[in-house]
Amino acid sequence: MIYLDNAATTRLRDEVLEAMLPYLQEQYGNASGGYALARSAHNALDKARQQIGTVLGAAQPREIYFTSGGTESDNWAIKGVAYANRDKGKHIITTAIEHHAVLETCAALEAQGYEVTYLQPDAEGRISAAQVEQAIRPDTILISVMWANNEMGTINPIREIGTLAKAHGIYMHSDAVQAAGHLLIDVQQAQVDLLSISAHKFYGPKGIGALYIRNGCKLADFMDGGAQERGKRAGTENVAAIVGMGKALELAAQELAEEAERLQALQAHMLKRISGEIPDAQINGSLTDRLVGNVNVSLPGIRSDITLFKMDMAEIACSGGSACTAGAIGQSHVLTAMGLDSARIGSAIRFSMGRYTTRQDIDRATDVLVRIAKEGGMYTL
Ligand SMILES: *Cc1c(COP(=O)(O)O)cnc(C)c1O
Repeated sequence: MIYLDNAATTRLRDEVLEAMLPYLQEQYGNASGGYALARSAHNALDKARQQIGTVLGAAQPREIYFTSGGTESDNWAIKGVAYANRDKGKHIITTAIEHHAVLETCAALEAQGYEVTYLQPDAEGRISAAQVEQAIRPDTILISVMWANNEMGTINPIREIGTLAKAHGIYMHSDAVQAAGHLLIDVQQAQVDLLSISAHKFYGPKGIGALYIRNGCKLADFMDGGAQERGKRAGTENVAAIVGMGKALELAAQELAEEAERLQALQAHMLKRISGEIPDAQINGSLTDRLVGNVNVSLPGIRSDITLFKMDMAEIACSGGSACTAGAIGQSHVLTAMGLDSARIGSAIRFSMGRYTTRQDIDRATDVLVRIAKEGGMYTL
């Protein structure tokens, strides 16, 4: 099997599993206890907080809060700011290309009387700081813009937007789930107050994530109960998963430059082959501000679900974009927001490479894609 769906999830690294195992076996203490076994768990949490805080450029490790993943971090950041700052205003600025964890959270807030502005991207899927600035109102309390998009890999100018937010005294959140472990992130340089990450997107375990919360940021608690996570997110910590996330992010940061260079070469190779061998293929998204390892391509006339079925038959795992459920025609909200025509949207396929992807994998996937393009569409869009 060739796995080219790393934007959906990644394989757990062996070193990460190894780091986790003691905490699933002999080191089973509850981190809140007052004896040696508990202290060992508590120290493991401290270490992971340190590892994550360092990679993200946090001023202090205690600004890192553990959550159950990217979805929870996004929910907490946005609802937390909305609930704690409603006396200041009820307007939020976000974008039409966010992950559903952000979009549905904003929709839930709209149902509670908040107002949300959804910025539209340019034709390559990018959001500009100027657009954000134009949308700012006196009652704006939060700006939430994703660091990198999960469908197109498009990277947004977060530092510019963060600087703008800061100048206007508005909280800034970024969903960095696709960026963490893959791009250099510095929360202080980027001037973000809140940042979401998820371990399973950088070779850590599923069901664990973190929210960076800048010291002093006014945010409602997420979970009521015990005193875990400084009383803001109660519940006994998933120590093994947290240890795995810390280790995975640390390793990803160490290898980031080298891995980016390797994936960029694979991406360039695949793009070159596609444009050379499938003349009517259309590459979606930006060619410059893009995550390495993401190739999103439309084969006009061939429905995404047909291509995906044939790819699956050839034992290649890829996707029609996150919004596409198996068996349904992908109606990506991201491609729609970019203003692409329906033939292009309905035929889009996403390949996302990762640390286990080889050049042979890319050549094989491209061979199959070229064959599919030649076979053409038996079904019209
Ligand atoms: C995967 C993803 C999420 C959701 O993270 P989970 O840990 O799966 O809940 C949120 N935002 C983006 C951009 C993602 O790619």
